[in-house]
Amino acid sequence: MAIVRDGIYLEDNPPVRSQFRVGRRDPVKSVIVVHTAESGTDTSGPDPKAENVASFIRGRSSAGSYHLVGDRDSIIQLIRFDNEAFHDRTGSNRWAIGISLAMNAADWPSLASSPRNELVTTAGQMAAIAAVWLRDRGLDLPEPRLLTKTDSDRLDASGFISHARRDPTRRTDPGAGFPWSSFFAAYQQALTDGGNEPGRDALIRQLQSLVGTTPDGIVGPLTIAALNRNWLGNDESFDVSVADTFVNNPRVIEWVQARINARDGFSVDVDGIFGPRTEAAVKTLLQRGGVITAESFLALVEPADG
Ligand SMILES: [Zn+2]
Repeated sequence: MAIVRDGIYLEDNPPVRSQFRVGRRDPVKSVIVVHTAESGTDTSGPDPKAENVASFIRGRSSAGSYHLVGDRDSIIQLIRFDNEAFHDRTGSNRWAIGISLAMNAADWPSLASSPRNELVTTAGQMAAIAAVWLRDRGLDLPEPRLLTKTDSDRLDASGFISHARRDPTRRTDPGAGFPWSSFFAAYQQALTDGGNEPGRDALIRQLQSLVGTTPDGIVGPLTIAALNRNWLGNDESFDVSVADTFVNNPRVIEWVQARINARDGFSVDVDGIFGPRTEAAVKTLLQRGGVITAESFLALVEPADG
C-alpha cells in the first residue's frame, strides 16, 4: 500500500501559475477520470515519480494538474476535490475528479508483475480515496465500470473513464494496456479495507465541528489548540493518571469512545464520561511517554493498521 502524504500539495507549495480553480462550476459527480502523467516509470526501489510530478506541476508555466497523483509507494493530493483540477480539456474538469499514476501509459505491456501490481494497487487506493470523499458528501460510490464519453457526460453518471476516451484525438492515457479489471478489483479491495468507515477527511471534519473550528478537514494550529482545550481541558498535554481533574468536552469523549469501538474493537460505553474502561482503552492505544496530546489522539482518524 502506498503512503498517503499529508497536506494539499499545491496549497502548501503554491504553483507558479494557477493550477486549479477554487470551487466548482458544476456539482461534482461520481465520475473519476484516470490518467498517467507520462513522467517515466520506476519499477524498483524508492519511487520518487509522484513527488517529481507534483514538483513539475508546481513549476510549469502551462495549465495541467490532477487531484491525486501516485506512484508505487506514495500518493499526493495536489488539489482538494471540491476545487477543479485542470486535467481534461473536454469539459469534465467542472464535475469530475482526476487521478493520475506517475508513469508512462505505454509501459503497461512491458512491466513485470511486481511493479505492475504495485501501480494498480496505488490507482485503486487513489480511486477509493476519491470515492469515500464523494460518499461522505452524500453521493454514490463510483461504480467499478468503464464509461463511454457520452455516459460520463450524463448527470447521473457513476463510474470511471480514461483520459483517452474523454479526449481521443489528443490523449492515449492511461494506456491501451491499462488493466481495468485489476484496477477495479484494487479499487474494491481498497474500499473494503478502509471505506466502510468514514474517511480521514470526514473524521477530521467531525472533530472540528465538535470543537467549534472551521470543518475544513485540514489539521492546523487552530484545530490542535481547540482539540487540546476541549479534550484535555488545557492547551498543553494530558496526564492520563489525572484525567478526571480536567474539564473535558463530553462530545469529544463520545467521539473518541465511538471511534475506538469501531476502529479498534473495544466495547466501551459511548457516554461522554472518561471512566476507567475508556481510560484503559485510550492508554492502550495512544499513550506515548505518559501524556496524550491532541496530536496523539488524532491518530484515531487513521485506519487501525495504518
Ligand atoms: Zn491525462
